[in-house]
Amino acid sequence: QVVTRFAPSPTGFLHIGGARTALFNWLFARHHGGKALLRIEDTDQKRSTQEAIDKIIDGLDWLGLDYDAPPVFQSERADRHREVALELLERGHAYKCYATPEELEAMRAEQRANKQPLRYDGRWRDRDPAEAPEGTPFTIRLKTPTEGETVIEDAVQGRVTVRNSEIDDYIILRADGTPTYMLAVVVDDHDMGCTHVIRGDDHLNNAFRQLPVIKAMGWDEPVYAHIPLIHGADGAKLSKRHGAVGVEAYRDEEGILPEAMFNYLLRLGWGHGDREEITREEAIELFDLGGVGKSPSRFDTKKLQNLNGHYIREADDARLATLVAERIGSEVDASLLEKAMPVLKPRARSVDELVEGSRFLFLTRPLALTDKAAALLDEEGKARLAKLYSRLTKENDWTIEALEATTKALAEELEIGLGKLAQPMRAALTGTTTSPGIFDVLVLLGKDESLARIGAQAA
Ligand code: GLU
Repeated sequence: QVVTRFAPSPTGFLHIGGARTALFNWLFARHHGGKALLRIEDTDQKRSTQEAIDKIIDGLDWLGLDYDAPPVFQSERADRHREVALELLERGHAYKCYATPEELEAMRAEQRANKQPLRYDGRWRDRDPAEAPEGTPFTIRLKTPTEGETVIEDAVQGRVTVRNSEIDDYIILRADGTPTYMLAVVVDDHDMGCTHVIRGDDHLNNAFRQLPVIKAMGWDEPVYAHIPLIHGADGAKLSKRHGAVGVEAYRDEEGILPEAMFNYLLRLGWGHGDREEITREEAIELFDLGGVGKSPSRFDTKKLQNLNGHYIREADDARLATLVAERIGSEVDASLLEKAMPVLKPRARSVDELVEGSRFLFLTRPLALTDKAAALLDEEGKARLAKLYSRLTKENDWTIEALEATTKALAEELEIGLGKLAQPMRAALTGTTTSPGIFDVLVLLGKDESLARIGAQAA
């Protein structure tokens, strides 16, 4: 059975890159009918606040990524990590290192001076621990192979080979008895039964350091899939410099729907032909690691917005009305919003644009006018509105068709273009010069409110 895990370090929010890693892991598990697991790597107690953890879980939840077991908290498993470190020591796969921090610093200074790579030189690897003075603190280091090479058949990167001489005997248990991150990851992956480790390729080097633990313990090696990182439009690794990098910012500030983010993240580094719009169900059916590209993908806000527009058009009106109502905040008539959605949806690319588009529904009289709107309501405009007002009061069939026919008839009588009536009417009804179709606006506002707004500006 396939078991995947998403293992975020809680550092404040769910990063776009992390969300994509989570998505790929989740899809891979779902595709294979396996298990998707979540592990919170909260060993850095200073940064791992409850708030940061909640935000990650909230972001995953919003994307609809569910897990098959409660999250595992790495910090709660320190005893188990220590147990493995001691077992490795006992079985001769690890050793005690009594080198003091000063001594190690001197070693590194020398390596730096000789332009050598900075790595532990194995000075206690073959030394008798009895040589250390009584009570000297020690760390436990992994005894990694020095000869030959380690090969990883990465499901995304292909075959990657590293010479074992490049892998140093790193610390698995610190002098204070706390396990290191490098050890914890391997032990947790094993204990959680992970068959596949799908993560950012910034962890590829770690895989070569983690494998010796797996081999020494005689555990099954997972399939590794290291996915290229996400870059910004300028080709540099995605960071705050590029704007929002947290999933929640896209939800809260950009008005992105979760299904749009889901689809966008999927397409960011994974492809199936040239399909852009892929639903959740299709994604589960189609996802495979073979479709993950080898080169970094660029985060493209425009594409995300376009996909969002697509999903807004697909979305249920009542749901959108609720989202818009939440954003407007004050008590608004949700059923009116729902009626407005079919009119607003075709052009909107974000929930915020729906909010903007709906504002005219809830204005209070007298309407504040933009400068452009005020300019349309000059003497001439007001005179036309007056004529329109008296026609519309007599209108009993308050429908798009009837209102359009009436307005057109008046324009013809006055020998002016329809716009000469529609524009001042728009200004009077919305206070602006841009809005949905003017007859849609009239119908949504209803006869009483429409006439009150037009009447207020008519001369
Ligand atoms: N906690 C690591 C991170 O957030 C991921 C570790 C892993 O996937 O092995 O980058």
